[in-house]
Parts: sequence; C-alpha cells; structure tokens
Amino acid sequence: MNAISNLPAEIAVTRLPAFDDNYFWLVHGAGDAQRSVAVVDPGDAATVLAALESQGLTLATILVTHHHADHIGGVAALAARFGVPVFGPAREDIPARTLAVGEGDEVELPALGLRFQVFDVPGHTAGHIAYYGHGALFCGDTLFSGGCGRLFEGTPQQMLNSLDKLSQLPPETRVYCAHEYTASNLRFAAAVEPGNAALLEYQALVTTLRARNEATIPTTVGLEMRINPFLRTRLAAVRAAATAHAGRVPADDAAAFAVVREWKNGFR
Ligand code: ZN
Ligand code: FE
Repeated sequence: MNAISNLPAEIAVTRLPAFDDNYFWLVHGAGDAQRSVAVVDPGDAATVLAALESQGLTLATILVTHHHADHIGGVAALAARFGVPVFGPAREDIPARTLAVGEGDEVELPALGLRFQVFDVPGHTAGHIAYYGHGALFCGDTLFSGGCGRLFEGTPQQMLNSLDKLSQLPPETRVYCAHEYTASNLRFAAAVEPGNAALLEYQALVTTLRARNEATIPTTVGLEMRINPFLRTRLAAVRAAATAHAGRVPADDAAAFAVVREWKNGFR
C-alpha cells in the first residue's frame, strides 16, 4: 500500500524556461532526496541536461501530461541516457513510456519520497492527464493562468468537465501549467469581464512582472477561480458576455463554455 511514509505537505519545484513560452518543471524529492528530481513534460533534453549538470541534480523519473512535441521532445533522449521510468497518459502515444496511467492511478516515486494522484483531463488532447500531490498540480496545457488549452482533440463539454475537476482542488493548490500565456490570457479575460476588479488588479501585477521578465507561474486554484473566465462560465457576468458575443443565449453550460473558447480563438 503506502510505500512512502511521512508524505511532505509541500515540495520544492524548479522552473526551466524553454522555447518561446514553455516551462518544464523539476520536482525535487523530499528531505534527503532533494537533489533527486522528476521532470514534468521535458520538451527538450538539452535544457534539462544543462539544469541537472549546473545544479548537481539526479534525474529519477519523467512525468508526461500529453503527446504534443513541446512536452515530449526530450523524453526519449533523457530516458535512454538515464534509464528512468516514464509515466504518461494511457490513452496517448508517448515515446519511451514505461508506465501508462490514468484517472484514479497513483504515481509512487520512492526515490523522491513523493506520490501523485492522476486525473484524466481531456479537452486539449483526448488523453491528457494531470498529476496532483503535495499541494501542487501539474496540468500541462489544460488549465493556464487566465485561460485554458485550445480544444485540439476534445469537446467543450470534456474541457468544462476537466476544468470543473481541477477547480475542486483546495484553493491554495499551486498550479504548475506548461506555458507562460498569462498576460495575453488576461487581455482576453478583461474583455470578457471588464467589471471584475480582482482580474484588473491582477492584470496590472502581471504587466509589471512580465515587464521585468518574471514568471507568473505557478498560480493557484483560488486565484484562477477569481480571474479565469474559463472557470467562471456559469457566473452571470460571463454568461451575459457570452450571450452578447454570440447574439443568443447559450443553451447550456457546455454551450456557454464553447462560446467563450471560440471567442478567445479569434481574439487579438
Ligand atoms: Zn499541448
Ligand atoms: Fe504545450
């Protein structure tokens, strides 16, 4: 059963910026294992190798959320070099995957003294998964700060269900998504909810942070509930905006979500 005793409430996580706007995440082991790390969504091996070397870290595990190239590009090379387990979504093709996981599974990482729960979060891709544990959520391209992933393979109803699942996590949950899209997401969010004071206040902070080239991730579930239009499509202000944009009242929750998602696809 529980091979790991004294599960830590919090974990140390290192951000690795890559490409234009990706983040790979290094999850450090607990206590004495802090120099052992798992990497989440390594889209590029060289970025990870450089960080391991410069910080004197040992790679213990690879965690993958979905099959897009910017999330898996470094998996095969890292797995071959270090011979580490690769956890990935059961319903997608992931290179070098050794452990296929989905909703209800637990990812045990004995080398790190950590354990994560797996959620199915389809919408961006059909088999997308997220990892949750120790107060942290690694959600790939499902939930972003101020936004959500594009619906490449899933339906609005699937993505709404996935975001509903994530929004039920404790508000203090730190959300480690895979892209720094916050500033542009908040420009859209402010168009949807120009009367949301918390949103406008946070947008001003993000503008300041990004001007200094500082990251806005991790965010938290509680913050996203206040500012992210895709977690707020059942609220009156967002419903009214969706109705005005579409020129008709959405038939149900999924239809309202679909209107906001399509609106953003064309928003500049
Ligand atoms: Zn993606
Ligand atoms: Fe991505």
